[in-house]
This record gives sequence, structure tokens and C-alpha cells, in this order.
Amino acid sequence: MVNCLRCNNKLTLVIDLKNSNFKCKKCDTVYDLIIKDKIVSVGLDGKSINFFLNDISFFNNELSKKTIYELYNKGYVKCIKTLNTAFNDHYNNWELSLDNLKNNVINNSNKTINSLTNSLKRVNLSQANYSCPSCGFVLSFEEAVNANFLCNACSENLKIFDPVAESNEINNKIEYIKEKILTLERGWC
Ligand SMILES: [Zn+2]
Ligand SMILES: [Zn+2]
Repeated sequence: MVNCLRCNNKLTLVIDLKNSNFKCKKCDTVYDLIIKDKIVSVGLDGKSINFFLNDISFFNNELSKKTIYELYNKGYVKCIKTLNTAFNDHYNNWELSLDNLKNNVINNSNKTINSLTNSLKRVNLSQANYSCPSCGFVLSFEEAVNANFLCNACSENLKIFDPVAESNEINNKIEYIKEKILTLERGWC
């Protein structure tokens, strides 16, 4: 559970995009919320908690409407509609439950780790010698010769495929995500 540092209730932040303001839904304490390099960092009084959102491509490292919609589409943020009786329509209020966010981040990270582990197996079994750096096609030496060392799909120059370098890169990604999960599980620090 991620609790509010002031009122100790489960922390849900009410997001006021216009004023870049993030308040505890229960006690109105204002938190800092910073987005940088796919990491959403929530902080108060020198304490913080970091969520690594592996499946989000943030735009300009800021919490714009576009980012909020992306967070909403991935299920990280909830939209609460409030009826505006005067105009017979509704307001969109954005809420971020940190507990929810934490669970989603851990689930999505585990999914990514699984698919990276599968790629790792494929790379380790691969007999191929050449690959396209932009679309990832993998060719044997003979196929590469026949193609004049150009990718069939995008005409990019084929590169010698180094299974060791490739699997090191994937391993590093896996370690990075695992480390982010561990930090998140520690909670406020
Ligand atoms: Zn609170
Ligand atoms: Zn290609």
C-alpha cells in the first residue's frame, strides 16, 4: 500500500492539470509530481516514490493533457466524470491512485521481463549472421550476400549480428526493470 504521508490514508492524487497541482483526495496535502525519462516521481518533504512506466512514451517529460490521456489509456489514471447541472454536461476529473499505479507498474514490468526473456532465448538460439538495425530482420550469411547486404524491407545496410552483444543488451534491460521494481516495492524513501 502507498499511504499519504500526512493523513495515512491510501493515497489518491487529484490531478489539476491547469495549475499543475496534485492533492491528496482525503486531506488536500499538495504533492510534487515529476515525470522524467518514463519515471513518475511523487514526493513530499524530501521523501519520494518512483514509478517506472516501461510501456509509456512520455512527451516532453511533462504532465500535459496528452500524457494524461496516454496514462488513462494504459489504465494508470482514472477519469471521474462529475455532472455539471448548470450546463447539462460533465467535467473530467483525473485521479491517480498510487496503489493502483504501483500494481499496474509491477504487472506491466513483469510482462515486459517475460517477453524480454523470450527474446533472449531466441537470440541465444539464433544461427543468423546479419540483422537490419532499423526493422530487426535477421538473415543468414548466404541470404545477406544475395541481398547485397541490404535489408529487403527498408534497404538499410545490414549489420553483423552479434548474439553476445544482443543478449547482453537484453540482460541489462531486464536487470534495469527488476531494480526499478525492487525500489518501488520499498515504498517511500
Ligand atoms: Zn492525505
Ligand atoms: Zn530493414
